[in-house]
Amino acid sequence: MQLNKEINKRRTFGIISHPDAGKTTLTEKLLLFGGAIQEAGAVKSNKIKKGATSDFMEIERQRGISVATSVLAFNYKEKKINILDTPGHKDFAEDTFRTLTAVDSVIVVIDVAKGVEEQTEKLVEVCRMRNIPMIIFINKLDREGKDAFDLLDEVEQKLGLKVTPLSFPIGMGYDFKGIYNVWEKNINLFSGDSKKNIEETIAFDDVNNPELEKIIGEKAAEELRENLELVYEVYPDFDKDAYMKSELQPVFFGSALNNFGVRELLDCFVEIAPPPLPKKAEERLVKPNEEAFTGFVFKIHANMDPRHRDRLAFIKIVSGTFERNTPYLHVRHNKNLKFSSPNAFFAEKKEIVDISYAGDIVGLHDTGNFKIGDTLTQGEVLNFKGIPSFSPEHFRYINNADPMKAKQLDKGINQLMDEGVAQLFTLEINNRKVIGTVGALQYEVIQYRLEHEYGAKCSYENLPVHKACWVDPVDSNSKEFAEFKRVKQKFLAKDKQGQLVFFADSAFSIQMTQQKYPNVKLHFVSEYK
Ligand code: GDP
Repeated sequence: MQLNKEINKRRTFGIISHPDAGKTTLTEKLLLFGGAIQEAGAVKSNKIKKGATSDFMEIERQRGISVATSVLAFNYKEKKINILDTPGHKDFAEDTFRTLTAVDSVIVVIDVAKGVEEQTEKLVEVCRMRNIPMIIFINKLDREGKDAFDLLDEVEQKLGLKVTPLSFPIGMGYDFKGIYNVWEKNINLFSGDSKKNIEETIAFDDVNNPELEKIIGEKAAEELRENLELVYEVYPDFDKDAYMKSELQPVFFGSALNNFGVRELLDCFVEIAPPPLPKKAEERLVKPNEEAFTGFVFKIHANMDPRHRDRLAFIKIVSGTFERNTPYLHVRHNKNLKFSSPNAFFAEKKEIVDISYAGDIVGLHDTGNFKIGDTLTQGEVLNFKGIPSFSPEHFRYINNADPMKAKQLDKGINQLMDEGVAQLFTLEINNRKVIGTVGALQYEVIQYRLEHEYGAKCSYENLPVHKACWVDPVDSNSKEFAEFKRVKQKFLAKDKQGQLVFFADSAFSIQMTQQKYPNVKLHFVSEYK
């Protein structure tokens, strides 16, 4: 009973956006509502800043912050809310994809003036593929921006979503008067006072009430009535089932900076967002309220102190409770591990806890036992699915630049890959190592960390690869597959799991290869079954 109650209180979600849309600002306002922080400015942005400092120094700074902001938890209306931080910088997109495997829903922040941007498109695509319920927050209404209906159209078209506005702006930019809350049927007037934390709302069941003119003026009242008429006509009623299946996305408007429209968003969120959901393992579906603990590693964070090579592994608890000093099975290693100081997160602090519940995230100190995707259980052999690798965008050979330190280099590379910093491939033909990354910045991170944490030096050499394709033969004993392997020998490699990968040098070559070897399927993600 207690277990069910605790689990049903949990809401674990991520905020995704293109950089600068207002993710950090919104996060902070949400924490203010929960009373978890006292003042604005307490949540640090983990953005990579361009400019003054060299890139890797900036990355080190960012790493420090992102430990602190990895999970921000707070209580609101008897719910325990866990916000999982997702880096906005595109070079860290893979980190965000993995974090999305640990959330039960997301809030998508969109800048009213810029509309749907590139990074939003990519992240939403991943959420759509996994049917993650999404709420959309259109931000910066205090500024001039796009027309609300045009934006809703853009969201539907560019993101492939079906939306329904649950709030609607009255004016915009200089003329911004407030929002009508379709969900609660009230009006919230904008005062532009950013210090006000709790807004005053005016209940308004019927927008045809002539009182409306008195409050927002004749022109705005008329416009609002027309707009709402259109909203009711064009958009479907909110349907929680459809939202849960990711078939319908509610939209809110507001201004995070002015803490305006944020309460409406949060109130709706706690009412509709899903509690911890069941998760598929290769063996079976695991439900959150099962007694036995299960969980998986979705993120590994190296500590800042290079002298201690310990790391923090972030576990999403899928079922049951995680208890301190209790032996759990590390499934990949088939051994039991006990944790004496599991960290739980509250606002921007972390503290040791005795018990955590399904939906929660715990941070475990690790000296190299874990890699991303590892499963922990109370004894059952389970492997959670859904932490795929995507084809990297950049490929470089990695060479040892100090022959005396070959061992250190190997160890460093292996550990960094376990953390998910980049992907390692080994060419079939000559065993040379290739590092694949999403962004060029990662090469600097790797070089810097190899040197500072492992005392090893490396150099890179470009490798012109367009995409890594995971090879999936219909019949691995066929003549066709044997010929494919012979002809493409020079372009074949193994990933870290030993899966065969084809390095295609162009989109054309992928197309030609598929035509020539129709029974050898090529995939852009590692987990295709
Ligand atoms: P992130 O990159 O998505 O985390 O974006 P931030 O939260 O750091 O916000 C980017 C910039 O937009 C900052 O300068 C914020 O002060 C500003 N900003 C955020 N929300 C609003 C808003 O509602 N109105 C205005 N005018 N600016 C905002």
